[in-house]
Amino acid sequence: MSRADDEQLIRAALRAAGSPFDGPAPDGLASGGSASGDVAFDGFAFDGADVPVGAVVLDADGVELARAGNARERLGDPTAHAEILALRAAAARHGDGWRLSGCTIAVTLEPCTMCAGAIVLARVARVVFGAWEPKTGAAGSLWDVLRDRRLNHRPEVVGGILAADCAALLDGFFGNRRQP
Ligand SMILES: [Zn+2]
Repeated sequence: MSRADDEQLIRAALRAAGSPFDGPAPDGLASGGSASGDVAFDGFAFDGADVPVGAVVLDADGVELARAGNARERLGDPTAHAEILALRAAAARHGDGWRLSGCTIAVTLEPCTMCAGAIVLARVARVVFGAWEPKTGAAGSLWDVLRDRRLNHRPEVVGGILAADCAALLDGFFGNRRQP
């Protein structure tokens, strides 16, 4: 995979950031400015309560299996991070039980420990992410769960792809929330 290909993956993940589940997200959601607006999408009102993080999973041929946005607030589910939702939907389609062997996950933000653990357990082959997350990141920042040599599966990891765009989406979200 070239860097241009990885950037395409992160662009898809950015589009998924405002979408609770599968399906193409409106392009506007990829920009930070719209992240707090009331945007109807696939029957869900995107009220901006959820931190905008998006993930997309592709099979070994590069065919998209699933995409999802963080929906922790909307679903009232502490595990409803974008990666978890996308992994679940992808596994349902991939046809090899829970295994996502050969698959790639692209996510706008460095995965946390929960998501990095799920990625390893799902045997995802490759992880591409955008912005680094120094507070909770488990792909090299605070921990490196994805490349821990004690685990029997270690995906290839590429971080910092379109990091500025991914960080801007988050900055837009938190910036808007700080306004009265
Ligand atoms: Zn997570």
